[in-house]
Amino acid sequence: MFLKHLQVGFLDTNCYIIADEESKDAAVIDPGGDADNIIKVISDEKLMVKYIFLTHGHSDHIAALSKVKDATNAKVAIHNKDAHMLSSPKHNLSIFFGKGLTQPSADITLNGDEMFNLGKLVLKIIHTPGHTPGGISIQVDNIVFTGDTLFAGSIGRTDFPGGSLDELISSIKNKLLILEDDTKIFPGHGEPSTIAYEKSMNPFLQ
Ligand SMILES: [Zn+2]
Ligand SMILES: [Zn+2]
Repeated sequence: MFLKHLQVGFLDTNCYIIADEESKDAAVIDPGGDADNIIKVISDEKLMVKYIFLTHGHSDHIAALSKVKDATNAKVAIHNKDAHMLSSPKHNLSIFFGKGLTQPSADITLNGDEMFNLGKLVLKIIHTPGHTPGGISIQVDNIVFTGDTLFAGSIGRTDFPGGSLDELISSIKNKLLILEDDTKIFPGHGEPSTIAYEKSMNPFLQ
C-alpha cells in the first residue's frame, strides 16, 4: 500500500494520501490546506484519486477540498451529520479564524460501516462521534485513520458545538480499542501510535 503523509494548513493537520500500488487507485484523507503540495504528490505518483474522505467537517481538515477536488474529479465523502459543515463557515469554525470558508457539497454522505475499494485495498468507515457528531475513522489493512477522535496520548476536544465527551470516550473504547493491538493509528494531528499503546498508556482512557 502506498501511504504518504503531509502536514498541511495553519494547524498542522495531517493529510494522508493512500493508494493501491498496482492500480494506482487512491484516496485523500483530510485535505486541510496546502493544496499544491497534495496535488504534486498525486501527479508525481500518477495516482487516480477516486475519493476524498473527510474525517469531520472542521475547516482545518477541509480547507483545500475544492482545489483537490477540481484537480482530481474525486468524489467527496463525509458523514451525513457533518455534511452541512462544508457550506457553513460558522459550523466548520472558519469564521472564527478570520476568513469564512465554504466548500463543495458532498457527493457521498456516510452513515458508518460502508466499505470502499481502491484496487485491492478495502477501506472501512467507522462512525466515531464525539469531537463532532459526524466524525469518522477509516480502517484499511492494519491502519486506522482517526481524525480528531484519538491522538497519540490524547483525545479530541469536545468543547466545540456538537461535541460530547461521553460520546467521544464511547467511540474510542467501543469502536477503536477493539481493533487488533498491532493496528497503527494515524491521527488528524501529531505523531502516529498503535492501539496497544493507547489502550495501556493514554491517560484519558484509563
Ligand atoms: Zn476538528
Ligand atoms: Zn483538527
